[in-house]
Amino acid sequence: MKKMKILFVGSEASPFIKTGGLGDVVAALPKYLKKEGAQVKLILPLYSLINREKYHLTKMYDGSCVKMGNCEEFYSVYYAETPCHYDAYFIEFHKYFDRYGVYDDKNSHEEYRDNAFRYAFFCRAALQLAKDMNYKPDIVHVHDWQTSLIPYYLKKDHDSFFEGTKSVLTIHNLPYQGIYDAEVIPYAKIDWADFNMEAFENYGRVNLLKGGIRFADKITTVSPNYAREILTPMGGAGLDWLLKERQSDLSGILNGIDVDLWDPAQDPHIAYPYNIKTYKQGKQENKKVLRDKFGLSHNNMPLFSMVVRLSEQKGIRMFTECIEGVLKNMQAQFIVMGDGELWAEAYLGNLPNYYPGQISVSRFHGATEHLIDAGSDFTLIPSIYEPCGLKQMYSQLYGTLPIVRSTGGLADTVQNYNEVNGTGTGFKFYDISASALYNTIGWANSTYYDRPEHIDGMIKEAMNQDFSWGRSARAYLSLYQSTKR
Ligand code: ADP
Repeated sequence: MKKMKILFVGSEASPFIKTGGLGDVVAALPKYLKKEGAQVKLILPLYSLINREKYHLTKMYDGSCVKMGNCEEFYSVYYAETPCHYDAYFIEFHKYFDRYGVYDDKNSHEEYRDNAFRYAFFCRAALQLAKDMNYKPDIVHVHDWQTSLIPYYLKKDHDSFFEGTKSVLTIHNLPYQGIYDAEVIPYAKIDWADFNMEAFENYGRVNLLKGGIRFADKITTVSPNYAREILTPMGGAGLDWLLKERQSDLSGILNGIDVDLWDPAQDPHIAYPYNIKTYKQGKQENKKVLRDKFGLSHNNMPLFSMVVRLSEQKGIRMFTECIEGVLKNMQAQFIVMGDGELWAEAYLGNLPNYYPGQISVSRFHGATEHLIDAGSDFTLIPSIYEPCGLKQMYSQLYGTLPIVRSTGGLADTVQNYNEVNGTGTGFKFYDISASALYNTIGWANSTYYDRPEHIDGMIKEAMNQDFSWGRSARAYLSLYQSTKR
């Protein structure tokens, strides 16, 4: 069979530049598509934050040009092979990408006012680069609002070069839609006829993601359950009606995780590596080290951890409302690691003063997260919404059972404990309420003390899960192929 040619266009990809999960997906998926036999090229903006020396960027084209509105924008193109051995190209345009931040200023945290201009330019330049390289893709795979203009350009430009090219838009987090003033319309060359409620218009402003959803050939999101939730008024962030119209082209494909980085048998960040056969002793030894590191007392209590961004999305309010009750009433220890909203940092940061030896609170530290997963018994992810979520996958592979609100990808990737036969890989609750979380922590805690044989079985089931990217890449490939039918 002919190799499929895929063009990935994203606003970030690790290790070059990353602000969140989007950067991981845009980097990892091409690697596994390539392993599955596809040809892939990735195009990124060349932010000045990207370290050109470290990643060996070399200049490829100088003086490339796209017409934006009435002006011609001249830019350069750089090339590098990614650490995962596929080709990455970078659009260098100082006016838009030489800044101390990606989407917003790192000092003031203010979003850049010209984001719509920046990414409209980037979308045009990416398509132009494909032409300049004579790379005729079968699929252009774009991500979130930043690259949502590409499906529109492919449909409306009627460029013979892209005849037969189809677009796939992946929504990583629906509430972020890229809504900006309409002044960008002439520059982005959006037809005024498409500035209507059915396509780009959003209460008088431009909604870039909405246009992407309207014009992409296929739309995906990062878990099957999130794909269902965004069709409802509660999960649809105002676009549920449009997504319903596009429902026959919408699907959910679970993100994978890097199973080389998250493998307790060969993890350099943990004290005692272990596998499914040796987890009992391995986790016990890691727990000792963890307790010492975080000043927790040594006893027979289960150790609960929570490593999440301290944001409303992650259900941090529910947690702060119930944690003191838990600490008072249950024989359980806690490690909380993460940073985010100041009120949550301040409240949680104070708790160890009142419950010394029982709870530790610290700022996020990537390497330590691995040790926390290795040494804890349970991990809390009480998210309000969660398009996919990675944390619950990491922790299951380390035999740490997640306690999750059953939403989005958490619902797909955690199997609820069944008290009758002891199956499951974690504990689920449904209501957005502190008491639901409290009760579920209690459920896990009592299972730990009263039914240890069930906990053992669940740990084995969790460690056996396949969360690898290979599975996701195959699902994307068959989706790409379906656009040709
Ligand atoms: P999200 O990307 O929405 O934060 P995920 O579940 O997809 O949630 O990713 C969670 C992972 O993000 C954690 O396991 C951790 O590796 C990483 N992370 C990045 N920043 C932080 C932080 N400030 N606090 C906790 N985890 C963080």
